[in-house]
Amino acid sequence: MVSLEEALEIVLGSSRRVGAEGVDAQLARGRVLAEDVAADADVPSFERAVFDGYACRRADLGSELAVVETIRAGVRPEKTVGPRQCAKIMTGAAVPPGADCVIMVELTREVAANRIRFTGSATGDNIRRTGEDIKAGQVVLHAGSLIRAQHIAVLCSFGHIRPLVARRPRVAVVATGDELVEPSAKPGPFQIRNSNGRQLAAQIEAVGAVARDYGAFADVPAEIDDVVKQAAKDNDVVIFSGGVSAGDFDFVPEILRQNKVRLLFEKIAVKPGKPTVFGVSPDACFFGLPGNPVSSFVAFELLVKPFLYGMMGHEYSPCCVQVPLGETVERKDAEREGWVPATISEAGTAEPVEYHGSAHILALCNAGGLISIPVGVARIESGAMVCVRLI
Ligand code: AMP
Ligand code: MG
Repeated sequence: MVSLEEALEIVLGSSRRVGAEGVDAQLARGRVLAEDVAADADVPSFERAVFDGYACRRADLGSELAVVETIRAGVRPEKTVGPRQCAKIMTGAAVPPGADCVIMVELTREVAANRIRFTGSATGDNIRRTGEDIKAGQVVLHAGSLIRAQHIAVLCSFGHIRPLVARRPRVAVVATGDELVEPSAKPGPFQIRNSNGRQLAAQIEAVGAVARDYGAFADVPAEIDDVVKQAAKDNDVVIFSGGVSAGDFDFVPEILRQNKVRLLFEKIAVKPGKPTVFGVSPDACFFGLPGNPVSSFVAFELLVKPFLYGMMGHEYSPCCVQVPLGETVERKDAEREGWVPATISEAGTAEPVEYHGSAHILALCNAGGLISIPVGVARIESGAMVCVRLI
């Protein structure tokens, strides 16, 4: 059994970088940037008004001002602002020569046609200076960044409309278990629907990789062997669900070994999620995740997600918050790092949700995160600070 830290180091050290491809910026959300992107111009590229108002000379703030023109956004000012003059100006329009500040329209009063007064007591310059945000040539986005909407805005600002991004890793999902039927089928006596397959596929898609759901296979070595061979040939990563623990019909690790997959660990010191297997072959990398749906979810979150991001060149760091625990948490077995489904209350405390164990998938739907309980800790008192990993 390896610690979560060791397991993470092993999987990240084994992740193989995928290549890069161009993609239209509008389709780049959730992809990982594979190049540095530099600004093709200063931002702002000219002196711009921050507000709708009047551009004038600061020395004239106490005087009545004559309005010499109206400057719209996107056009060149025609006049120089002289003493006791101003130009009406729109947000984002170019500040005219002669003016050194912009007064907000809300702080002015029209005293006659085309004559105004400043009614405030003080004002900032309200001018965005050339290059104050970004200088031309500056690297604005770095390779490895996960592209979100705001990154797309930056790409578009600089006309970088077809960024180079990491190829999406192809990830096979293979559920195993004699008891499984398709989600669309009605389970017979003692059967259950395969929920892990689609859960894993959704988790894979959420990190920007391509999921290929192979469906459910019975615990029959020859059938699992066939799908290992096929899935390894056609994918970068193969994820098995179920069949990896200590039951008589848990064949996955042995079949992987027979297929020359080097297993780098077969258990992790995590609860839920202990029977988690990882291995590599020249063709692909392999995960075997526990069949219980909460364990499968958590093992993906802790190991597979950082691994897939690593393949795309993104260094994933989970979003964790430190908050006080709302009620005392106790457990019998403190040998493994524990992960307890919880919500964060409006008061900012971590509140464990009703949770019956690793088969209780609904608990995760009611949870916003997982409280981490370190190895060796059996009890955490209400009020103590805990780390919640948001999911
Ligand atoms: P296993 O890891 O194969 O021993 O399975 C552990 C538990 O998870 C058993 O109760 C299984 O019935 C359940 N299970 C296994 N695979 C799935 C699946 N694909 N979807 C939902 N539950 C599963
Ligand atoms: Mg099974």
